[in-house]
Amino acid sequence: VPKNSNELILLDAGTPLAGCNNRVFGLDTDTLAARLADLGEQPYRGKQISEAMYNQFVTDIIEITTLPEKLRRQLIDKGWHVGRPTIAQPFKSTDGTERYLVEFEGENSKSQTAEAVWMPEGDGGEAGDGSDSDPSTVDVAPSLRSRSAERAGGRPWSRATICVSSQIGCAVNCQFCLTAKLGLQRNLTPGEIAGQVVAILDRQKVRIGRDRVNLVFMGMGEPFLNYDNFMAAVRLLVREVGLSPLRMTVSTSGIVPGIERFAQEPLDVRPKLAISLNAPNDAIRAEVMPINRKWSIAAVIDAVRRVPMRSRERVTFEYVLLGGVTDQPAHARELARLVRRTGLPAKINLIAWNSGPGIAYTTPSSATVEAFQNLLKGEGIPAYIRQPRGRDIFAACGQLKRTVEG
Ligand code: SF4
Repeated sequence: VPKNSNELILLDAGTPLAGCNNRVFGLDTDTLAARLADLGEQPYRGKQISEAMYNQFVTDIIEITTLPEKLRRQLIDKGWHVGRPTIAQPFKSTDGTERYLVEFEGENSKSQTAEAVWMPEGDGGEAGDGSDSDPSTVDVAPSLRSRSAERAGGRPWSRATICVSSQIGCAVNCQFCLTAKLGLQRNLTPGEIAGQVVAILDRQKVRIGRDRVNLVFMGMGEPFLNYDNFMAAVRLLVREVGLSPLRMTVSTSGIVPGIERFAQEPLDVRPKLAISLNAPNDAIRAEVMPINRKWSIAAVIDAVRRVPMRSRERVTFEYVLLGGVTDQPAHARELARLVRRTGLPAKINLIAWNSGPGIAYTTPSSATVEAFQNLLKGEGIPAYIRQPRGRDIFAACGQLKRTVEG
């Protein structure tokens, strides 16, 4: 990241033109209605198609039985097709986590995959961030989980978290992250981002409005460097699929113009905000996250202050503990001072670094992580430990690199 340059903003990789073919997944009800009206059809047919795709998880126009068969055939003849992303390869961890290689429609399948992760019971990331103001995300004590799972139709989970990608690869170059090794390949479209979620909801037979499912936009990519498509995906997931923005968290490495736009979003479609902080001061942060040379911690915090918080909502500061680099007691005390000085309703999520090939950091011991947490708590800062999920299948935080070994 060159100092004093605008290059990072220009790194937006562009998006394949939406609507240049007749794929309908990713279009909202109004757009579908307008396209059908162009064909001389009643606009309410748009709602029928969106309900089929986003609520009943139909993946073929011929199966949209609310449409007359003649119309279905006409649409197919005109090249209309659903085109939802597909799960090309699943990898299952011993802890129940599943990592998916998700394939997008395109000519070159090799450059058309990203990753998404399903974490039954979540990873503790939402603890204390105000999600509990939404009754549907209240955590369940382990002793109650089996009963609750029975009520959930015998499935072995009572709540779950889906980690979603916003780009193929990433330009931000955080030094501890495997995705960074890919570089930025391209932005995902709104349908490709929302499609990861819908494909997983379908696979896991999630019942919208009844099951507790949280989304975290923390997979491959920097959502705020693909801002328009990311927010369009959120609107699809809220308005068409029926998920609550209170169950969604977007994490940014600190893209200030993106945070400023995010502050303007209406609350009914605004996810919660997490800042990937990872260091207690600018000097260390610039080493592990070169983006800090463009937007310092103070600049990021200033932008976050402009985001209006809901009652009980907290900003999450994500903090990856790198052995010897960011995990020392002095770092914990400095971090506590930093977060306290922001005056923001905030909490810290601690993540012990997940190792990856070719990255020369070390993972701190559980005792070090707990000591770090206790120091923060002792300073009055709410701090939670995010449990590593799916390390054995390269599904854990910072490990997403389209690895094909299970
Ligand atoms: S941690 Fe996130 S922002 Fe940083 S390189 Fe990895 S994917 Fe990009």
